[in-house]
Amino acid sequence: MDMALTSESIDSHQRTGQPWNDMLPEALESMSSPREEVRGMGSILSKVSQVFILTDENVAPFWLPEVEYGLKCEKAVEIVIKPGEQHKNLQTVQRIWKILMKHHADRNSLLVNLGGGVITDLGGFAASTYKRGIKFINVPTTLLAMVDAAIGGKTGIDFGGAKNQIGTFAEAEDVLVDPVFLSTLPRREILSGLAEMLKYGFVADADLLKSNLKDYQQYISRAGEIKREIVAKDPMENGLRKILNFGHTLGHAIESHCLTIDYPLLHGEAVALGMAGALWLSVKRCGLDEKVLKDFEKKLLVLLSETEIAFADADVESVMGYLAHDKKNQGDKPQFVLLEAIGNPVWNVEVEPDLVKASLLYIIKVSRR
Ligand code: ADP
Ligand code: ZN
Repeated sequence: MDMALTSESIDSHQRTGQPWNDMLPEALESMSSPREEVRGMGSILSKVSQVFILTDENVAPFWLPEVEYGLKCEKAVEIVIKPGEQHKNLQTVQRIWKILMKHHADRNSLLVNLGGGVITDLGGFAASTYKRGIKFINVPTTLLAMVDAAIGGKTGIDFGGAKNQIGTFAEAEDVLVDPVFLSTLPRREILSGLAEMLKYGFVADADLLKSNLKDYQQYISRAGEIKREIVAKDPMENGLRKILNFGHTLGHAIESHCLTIDYPLLHGEAVALGMAGALWLSVKRCGLDEKVLKDFEKKLLVLLSETEIAFADADVESVMGYLAHDKKNQGDKPQFVLLEAIGNPVWNVEVEPDLVKASLLYIIKVSRR
C-alpha cells in the first residue's frame, strides 16, 4: 500500500466504542480487503486533487484504516474530532476549514464524511461552505445516518442553543451505505436508527414496519430509497417532504425537554415517543385504525429497552413550551404530520392544545409500562 497519510487529530485520539454484535469478527474480516462499495468510489476519487477524511474518535479506530485502504488514495488528510452532538458547532467547523486551508484544499478537493449524523451534517456543512463549496461523500456508520441524515442534501450545525439552526442544502456526490459499519455500533444506537426506519413504514411503505432488531439490515436500502424519492419530489420541504417529520413534532420537544432534565434521549428514542403520540392523535383526529397504535406499543417497548424514560406528568407543561417554539411551526402553532392510514399521511395539521397535552400523557403512560 503506497499511502502517505497525514493525521490531523483535533483532539486526543482514543478508542472508546465497544463492539456488541456477534457478527463483528466476520465483518472485520470481510473489510480486510477493500469492499465493492468502497472500491466503487474510485471513479469519483480519480477526478479529485486531494482527499480529506472527517471522522470521530469512536469511529476512527474501527473504520478509518479500512476506509483509507479501500479508497487507495495517495494522500488522505485525516480529521478526527471528538464524538457527540455538542461538537456539531461553529468552532469545530472553523477547525475543519483551517485544516482544509492549511493543506491548500481547492475546489477539486474531496471531503469524505465517515461517521454518524453528526459527522455527515457537520462535514457536509464545512464542505458546502469552504470556497463556496467543495465535493463531499457521505459514508454513514450509524443506522440513523444510513436511512436519514446522510441522504437528502441537508447539512447543518447547532447554534445559539438550538439544533441545526445554521446549514445549507447541499447534495453529497455519493452516499456509500454498507451495513458492515453497524457491527461496532452500540445496540442502543441501532434501536434509535430502527425507530427512524419505522417512520418510513408509517408514512410510505407498510413493509418496513415488519423490520425488527433481528432483520433490520434487509430494510436499510428500502428506507433510503423512500427518503430519496420524497426528497426528489420536494427538495426544499415546501410540502410532501414534511411527511418525513412524522413523530418529530412531539419528538423534538421531548428531546429538548430531556436535555434540560439532564437525561438525554437519543434522537430515535425521542422520535419513537413522538410517533406513539402522533399515532394516538391520528386515531383521535384522522380515523386511523387503533390496531396500528396497539401494534406500535409493543415495538415501542423494544425501541426503548436500552434507555430509561425520566419523563413524567409534571413535565408536560415544559414539553408544551418547546412545542410552541418548534422552528417548523407556522406562527406559534405546532404543525403535525398525522396518518389516515399506514402510507397515507396528512401534514400541516393543527391540533388543539388540550388534545396535544392528552397525547403527551398517553406517551408517558405507554412508555412506562
Ligand atoms: P447519529 O446522529 O447518526 O445517531 P452520531 O454521529 O451522534 O450519530 O453517532 C452516534 C454515536 O455513535 C457517536 O458517539 C459516534 O461516535 C458513534 N458511532 C458512529 N458510528 C459508529 C460505529 N460504526 N461504531 C461505533 N460507534 C459509532
Ligand atoms: Zn429524525
